[in-house]
Amino acid sequence: MNRVYLDHAATSPIRREAADAVAEALRLGANASSVHAEGRRARMAVEDARARVADGVNAPADGLVFTSGATEALNLAIHGGVAAGATQRLLVSAIEHDATLQAARTSGAEVEVIPVTAEGVTDVGWLEQRLARWDAADGRPFVALMLVNNETGVIQPVEEAGRAVRAANGLLLVDAVQALGKIPVDMAALGANYIAISAHKIGGPAGVGALALAEDAPLARRVHGGGQERGRRAGTENLSGIAGLAAAVEAALCDLSEIDRLSAVRDRLESGVKTARPDALIVGDGAPRVATITCLALEGFGAETQVMAMDLAGVAVSAGAACSSGKVRASHVLAAMGAGPEIAGGAIRASLGWNSRPEDADRFVDAWVKAAERAAPARATA
Ligand code: PLP
Repeated sequence: MNRVYLDHAATSPIRREAADAVAEALRLGANASSVHAEGRRARMAVEDARARVADGVNAPADGLVFTSGATEALNLAIHGGVAAGATQRLLVSAIEHDATLQAARTSGAEVEVIPVTAEGVTDVGWLEQRLARWDAADGRPFVALMLVNNETGVIQPVEEAGRAVRAANGLLLVDAVQALGKIPVDMAALGANYIAISAHKIGGPAGVGALALAEDAPLARRVHGGGQERGRRAGTENLSGIAGLAAAVEAALCDLSEIDRLSAVRDRLESGVKTARPDALIVGDGAPRVATITCLALEGFGAETQVMAMDLAGVAVSAGAACSSGKVRASHVLAAMGAGPEIAGGAIRASLGWNSRPEDADRFVDAWVKAAERAAPARATA
């Protein structure tokens, strides 16, 4: 039986364009810092990729730093911003990825958590009030927000928050990992000083990403060594990964025109589930969401059981956030939304991407409804 892959938010299978670009760059076989012709060709490939990736998020090309992924990009922005003396106090939303939360906690700055609503939307009103009583002794307000949440798919009001941050002379870091290719990501429109992206969430290779910097973004280097990346991140550039990232960004942006197609697949999946099991909960249902993520919970049907049952039925999904240890733990995102332990520890995520088709939604619904019936039989209605 063919398997159905609905875990694009964890890693999206590599796109042909990206795989081709990786293979081609691997064959260049030279160091982009070398002065000979081979090195200059490698340098041209890196700089060409830099311009294309920067263009994809409407950022200045000379401010784009290639990294080993979004985790490093987020750490670089937060630790690098604090080390540059920009701030002594970070404001971080409760639903940020662990990369942001852990970077903030280890930065040496004080950390305050911005709450979210029950629908999983960052409370901009709270942020505005907090910024209004900012103490200049803490330096500039440094605010970290994600554009799309990786567990719920809820789109965050970052543009609105950006206006408040700018008015307070603050700095805004945007985690655009799950937004890129799903909604427009525009550094200038968002008013962001830093934007983090990752290749493997959009059909590029894993282990490469970027931090886009606006002209005025304070940053002290965190990885010391050579002068690569304009002195912002030492180490020989990952030429093939960088070429794969650029190809994936361009292909993902082309796919923005296809988003209605994916939206229809997602709706088909959710309405199939809700028709069979009206007692199922689609998390964040009432908030604006990207077309590619469904977070689903059913009382009595634990996340681990769901993921295993779906895997046996040939459908790959994640339990809330996929975590590195492979263990399922209660979701800090759902907990921040006020969900009880049953939901926070019981939700699964089905995430679509560039190769998802309507039949995938049907396979999901069929397998999920059967497994749900075994684990948590629907109550007979009177
Ligand atoms: N931010 C978000 C929203 C993510 O979903 C992820 C990946 O799980 C990351 C950051 C980290 O990205 P990477 O795997 O490139 O380090």
